[in-house]
Amino acid sequence: MHEVSIALGMIEELMRIGRENNAKKITHVKLRIGRMSGIVTDSLIFAFDAVKLEHPLLSSAVISIEEVPLVYECNKCNKKFEIENFTFPSCPFCGSFGLKIISGEEQHIEKVEVEV
Ligand SMILES: [Zn+2]
Repeated sequence: MHEVSIALGMIEELMRIGRENNAKKITHVKLRIGRMSGIVTDSLIFAFDAVKLEHPLLSSAVISIEEVPLVYECNKCNKKFEIENFTFPSCPFCGSFGLKIISGEEQHIEKVEVEV
């Protein structure tokens, strides 16, 4: 499961943040995960909840995830739009396939609350 390695990487990052802030405990973690990141958010929470128990600093942390929609910008008409079906995306305004992704590939830690 891809999400386990992501959770492990995030936990390493969180431990570093915790140490830098002299935290006794990390209480809340908010993540931003894009629709196109390939991450299944339920699996990520599941993996995170399993791995965090090994780390006292993190064991009671609550994780929440903000899902970022997939937004494209059309290279031809410069309009921005969200898309649900991203297997073969095209611009809904002019039909062009020349698109660039504006958001939706995020996978990072947005906010960490600690107890010091
Ligand atoms: Zn267009």
